[in-house]
Amino acid sequence: MNVQSDVNIGLVGHVDHGKTTLTKALSGIWTDTHSEETKRGISIRLGYADIEFRKCPECGEPECYTTDDKCPICGSETELIRKVSFVDAPGHETLMATMLSGAAIMDGAVLVIAANETCPQPQTKEHLMALDVIGVKDVIVVQNKIDIVSKERAIESYNEIKEFVKGTCAEDALIIPVSAQQGANVDILIEAMLKQIQPPERNVDDTALMHVARSFDINKPGSGADKIKGGVIGGTLIQGKFKLGDTIEIRPGPTNDGKRMTLTSEIIGLEANGEQVEEIGPGGLVGIATKLDPSLTKSDSLSGTVAGEEGTLPDVLDSFKMDANLLDRVVGTKEERDVAPIKLKEPLMINCGTTTTIGVVTSTKKNDVEVTLKLPVCASPGDRVALSRRVGARWRLIGYGIIK
Ligand code: GDP
Ligand code: MG
Repeated sequence: MNVQSDVNIGLVGHVDHGKTTLTKALSGIWTDTHSEETKRGISIRLGYADIEFRKCPECGEPECYTTDDKCPICGSETELIRKVSFVDAPGHETLMATMLSGAAIMDGAVLVIAANETCPQPQTKEHLMALDVIGVKDVIVVQNKIDIVSKERAIESYNEIKEFVKGTCAEDALIIPVSAQQGANVDILIEAMLKQIQPPERNVDDTALMHVARSFDINKPGSGADKIKGGVIGGTLIQGKFKLGDTIEIRPGPTNDGKRMTLTSEIIGLEANGEQVEEIGPGGLVGIATKLDPSLTKSDSLSGTVAGEEGTLPDVLDSFKMDANLLDRVVGTKEERDVAPIKLKEPLMINCGTTTTIGVVTSTKKNDVEVTLKLPVCASPGDRVALSRRVGARWRLIGYGIIK
């Protein structure tokens, strides 16, 4: 079997509803590893975990589904069915930009809603809206913390959830009662993800396109010049394949004389699921070693860029026109208000792929909106971007645009 995961599944929902605990229950990995995260107890960057969905050959459904090598019920060796990757999005309201960048690489999502709080909480709504806006269609709802509510409250919470998802991409989603902390019904959740979150149709002839999420300088300080290793980028392919020896291009690169450069290098190493491989495709976070000067890749300096085959990348845009579609209401706050039309000169937060930039509106006529970008993006006509507006001290999702 391929070493690489076949899909990325997002874990989304309001802060403290149990996303990180659920990722831990499924993978054994605690994704809040960034030191600031540990201090503040919330997920700041996107957490990431590779998971194996396995099946016990002896037990019946759904008890047979597990992520362990040994069946927790009968102890038999389990069989690997699929590998998937989990992207644990931060639920805190100030971190929508990170959540939106994460949504760009999700093939499906699990929306975690705690049964002990009334539904929807502000970020429950904002995250579901974000999935809708970005176009993530395969959604499963987890009704979490079922261990601490009465049967009556569980039914009431279920009805609140049913009402809340009406008219959204999760309208027909399964709602699975779970205790992430106690591991209850995790087998049923695995079965649902296996059956409902399938890899999208992928055209094998598409040219490789990767959203770069991380970039590193892997050299230890003081390494001799002869031992210096080239820059490494990490991210996820949305289409196509990269092979060892391919020439890769990355855009937008740094500025030189006021012009944006395209970085070009040879692929000298590929890593997926912790293993060195010869070829990589879509699904999961992958690492690419290049011959680039590591000072260009250090400390995530290339995150938000795109990488592709030589000569195939979209243009770098410093401004673009779009067809803007606004939501009816601003969500994510306790008191909701109507979304006012986009105004001339107003700054919008624009999420395009894994890039976050600010676009200042230079013209607006009905749905036709033009923006000048603070940070350029590498994108094509037809690409979808998420639009947020400053409301009070925060960016709030107000809709999406299709680049013209
Ligand atoms: P996140 O902000 O959505 O990632 O939430 P966390 O996973 O950090 O969980 C927040 C708190 O809820 C922690 O104290 C968890 O131990 C607790 N928690 C998570 N899942 C459950 C559950 O199923 N039952 C109970 N009783 N507590 C849970
Ligand atoms: Mg968390």
